[in-house]
Amino acid sequence: MNIRCRYAPSPTGNQHIGGLRTALFNYLLSRSPAAEGGKSAFLLRLEDTDRLRFDKLYVDNVFSSFDWLGFGWDEGPGVGGPYAPYVQSERVGLYKKYADALIEAGKAYYCFCSAEELAAARDAREAAHSGESGYSRVCRSIPPAEASLRAANGEPCVIRLKIPLGETTRFTDALLGDIEWKNDDVNADPVLIKSDGFPTYHLANIVDDHLMKITHVLRAQEWLSSTPLHIILYKALGWEPPVFCHLPMVMGQDGKKLSKRHGATSINEFRSRGYLSGALINYVAQLGASYEEGKDVYTLEELAANFSLSKLNKAPAVFDYKKLEWFNARYIMACSNEELAAQSLPFAVENGLFGEAGDGPSPQQAGLYTSAMPLVKERAVFLTEIPKKLEFLFRDPPLAKLEDFIPKKSDVKTAAFLLKKGVDLIPKICTAGDEEAGALVKAKAEAEGVKLGDLLQPLRVAITGSRVSPPLFGSARLLGVEKCAARANACLEFLVSN
Ligand code: GLU
Repeated sequence: MNIRCRYAPSPTGNQHIGGLRTALFNYLLSRSPAAEGGKSAFLLRLEDTDRLRFDKLYVDNVFSSFDWLGFGWDEGPGVGGPYAPYVQSERVGLYKKYADALIEAGKAYYCFCSAEELAAARDAREAAHSGESGYSRVCRSIPPAEASLRAANGEPCVIRLKIPLGETTRFTDALLGDIEWKNDDVNADPVLIKSDGFPTYHLANIVDDHLMKITHVLRAQEWLSSTPLHIILYKALGWEPPVFCHLPMVMGQDGKKLSKRHGATSINEFRSRGYLSGALINYVAQLGASYEEGKDVYTLEELAANFSLSKLNKAPAVFDYKKLEWFNARYIMACSNEELAAQSLPFAVENGLFGEAGDGPSPQQAGLYTSAMPLVKERAVFLTEIPKKLEFLFRDPPLAKLEDFIPKKSDVKTAAFLLKKGVDLIPKICTAGDEEAGALVKAKAEAEGVKLGDLLQPLRVAITGSRVSPPLFGSARLLGVEKCAARANACLEFLVSN
């Protein structure tokens, strides 16, 4: 079947995990086995009708977030498509036509209540504890001809939907099953066209989903309470509604809705904290959906091949940063050297690894950086850690503290002795492979009657500047005999003079 899905963010805030999950599930459904028709597609539509909360920065944020995430849309801003434009503010003229048609059919009406009158009515209702909520529907009783005249004469007004009272609205949510609402409980006669001429979310969303031939709407559960109203609107316009599927909530580990409180939530923040987009996608795809048994790491294609609405879970999903970190470490490990170098390079440039902060690498530095990736791959959890770990390859480290050279329960004299032995090994360590270098050092330690770790400690500190460093032999090979020997000899002098 043709499956046309959309992600329809309102640019009133930055893109966050919830939005990514919604976009991703829609994307996956449009590429899932169920979407066999050649016209299946995933759309991006910007719902920018809330002009008060709109900010162009948030539009840019949609683009930069998805650029980084690396999955895009088949139709939408930037790529176009048969139903362009895909930005609601560029379609404003279109919505009014449908609101007018609803007025014509007696299914919507003009409301002339001012904001002050509405506020006063609300206060009165609250004071009387009437239990009623929303608009009193007072303008319903204005004769249509009179109302049209007043509107035509330019009297400020909005257009409201006439909810059919006394009826029940039913629909079947693809995840939650049959749902019914008494129409009298639906948000009292919601506004379709605002006094500024802009449509509300409800009208623009329905009109566009219809015109853009959307077949499935996967969206956050917070929209569930708007759906009866949307169904009523579809009926009033004589249109077939799409399949609705309200996705399980995403919670923090404290059981509360995921928010800033839980750490990074904007997509760009995950990027700047050193996550790989593939790891984030892989983890977010598993928030509320299951795929094959016994597998954690999937490519986007594998996720799509295994995606179906029947595999969604009703229970809220819990966002676990530790699990995401685990994914990130896995992804870092699985990267090729070139890819990992490219992904972590911006952090290296920012940290001044190649000179001043902001300096890019020379060709020789770029080569060294890529060759160093195997040294950090196994242990890094975040891309941001990588440049710091490799600093000693690009500049001589500051002289370490005396105690760093000295093995446990030992003294400076012994450390100097051990370092001297290490210095003798440098030419071989820097040219042999890991195994051979390991065997050499082991044999030396045995011959001197010292522990392997004790022999290596002063040498490691001398070459890398730290007791905790990437693997020593690989590091020494990249630095070369000359640099290693110079650093080690300088440290030896320091130890001897102490
Ligand atoms: N513009 C709405 C939002 O910001 C779209 C909701 C929907 O998918 O219908 O989430």
